[in-house]
Amino acid sequence: MAELAAALRAIAGDGGVLTAPEDLIAYGFDGTFFDRTPPLVVLPQTIDEVVAIHRLATRERLAITPRAMGSGLSGGSVPLDGSIVLGVARMNRILAIDTVDRVAVVEPGVITADLQAAVERQGLFYPPDPSSLRQSAIGGNIAENAGGARGLKYGVTGDYVLALAVVLPDGTLIRTGGRSVKNVTGYNLRALFTGAEGTLGTIVEATLRLITRPTAARTALAVFERLEDAAASVTAVLEAGILPTSIELIDRLTIRCIEENAPAGLPRDADAVLLFGVDGDHVEILDGELAAIERVAREHGARDVTRAHDAAESDRLWAARRAISPSLARRRPNKLGEDIAVPRRGIVAMCARVREIAAKYDLEIPLFGHIGDGNLHPNILCDKRDPAEMARVAAAAREIFEAAVALGGTLSGEHGIGLLKKQFMELDLGPETLALMRAIKTAVDPLGIMNPGKIFPEPGGADAFRL
Ligand SMILES: Cc1cc2nc3c(=O)[nH]c(=O)nc-3n(C[C@H](O)[C@H](O)[C@H](O)COP(=O)(O)OP(=O)(O)OC[C@H]3O[C@@H](n4cnc5c(N)ncnc54)[C@H](O)[C@@H]3O)c2cc1C
Repeated sequence: MAELAAALRAIAGDGGVLTAPEDLIAYGFDGTFFDRTPPLVVLPQTIDEVVAIHRLATRERLAITPRAMGSGLSGGSVPLDGSIVLGVARMNRILAIDTVDRVAVVEPGVITADLQAAVERQGLFYPPDPSSLRQSAIGGNIAENAGGARGLKYGVTGDYVLALAVVLPDGTLIRTGGRSVKNVTGYNLRALFTGAEGTLGTIVEATLRLITRPTAARTALAVFERLEDAAASVTAVLEAGILPTSIELIDRLTIRCIEENAPAGLPRDADAVLLFGVDGDHVEILDGELAAIERVAREHGARDVTRAHDAAESDRLWAARRAISPSLARRRPNKLGEDIAVPRRGIVAMCARVREIAAKYDLEIPLFGHIGDGNLHPNILCDKRDPAEMARVAAAAREIFEAAVALGGTLSGEHGIGLLKKQFMELDLGPETLALMRAIKTAVDPLGIMNPGKIFPEPGGADAFRL
């Protein structure tokens, strides 16, 4: 290890290699309850340094786990099998914002919120907005194909990736995609690396599509006595041809957790609330959309629909939405955050199934998420030190996945597979598609050095929730 550290210091400089136990611990976990302290962390600052690190790793048969900000919710950046961590946080420059081509060229360590602020200063807009936008970076967003509340209208990170520079496992640097609006030359490799969760290479640069910044936004809160009415309102609003920027669900238990930890004035007696956001350039059109949303929501049982009167009130409501994860974390020692997505037709049934599963296994499962996308985050609250409870958690998680797939949905809408869901991959994909993914992994990474232990199920179906 001392020799390895010296070789890496020769590449990344003294400040670019961490070996002290107290430093290493900080790079061993993400937003899940998994952790594994790496033997060493390397923090390159340039593409050339990443290339040299990969070459060294290939020569030494050393596993690499890429890491951006470590906010992932599927265990992707937790280093397994003696893997070193390659952290991209120091590669955090915005290299260009081009107002003619309407692109931003960025290094992978740029914080998502910083990029948004920088492009908005130029009247442009980068829509992907994971709730972790201040704690996550573009490299992690691309590697997870992160979504966010605005996904309903604007899509996810992958919809904005025009080009990538990627260092392959053996140190080869490839560039794929370009700045043109259209580009269909050859296989779509940028789509392959987007959402690959660091298993195929390290993303070292991205060219991202920008759009014109909408000049106005409005927010409304609809309050329901019954979760099923809230869910039915979502499909009804969308069926009515209204396309809000966001429709977010916050259920009863989630409201209670928020109000106990970051009070936002949400109604504690409601079974569920829906947070609607609309944006555009014409205030009268937005007001008309909110009026239509209110009408449909009331027709479907909303007891109250209120509009945020000003930006401060709107910010308070969206801050409450972003406070969910930290608020849930205070209720029990751990949480298993799921991320299933179903087609719109399945939204009502999926919400009901989550409640049934919670009752069946006697577990608290607050339900929230980007319900307009059919993307729900049932979070199973638990204590990982309690084996009996964890057995119930595992059974409940399996039933949630099975229900989503049976409704035509999927294991993950935006958080990725990582460690958390790898044992369920075949359930979702089927054996043939999974085999093709394994073949791609082997072709790109024949030595298996990139982010080992992620995405692909272990033979024999090892316990999905233990390392
Ligand atoms: C409070 C909270 C709210 C969240 N809200 C959302 C949300 O609304 N929507 C959403 O989609 N996600 C959300 N997340 C999950 C998480 O923030 C996203 O997955 C985010 O994209 C991860 O970015 P990161 O920089 O933290 O990546 P990390 O956690 O560091 O890494 C994530 C994955 O990407 C890989 N990776 C990182 N950098 C690179 C690179 N340069 N090259 C190749 N692979 C790389 C890692 O190996 C790992 O597999 C939330 C998380 C938290 C804690």
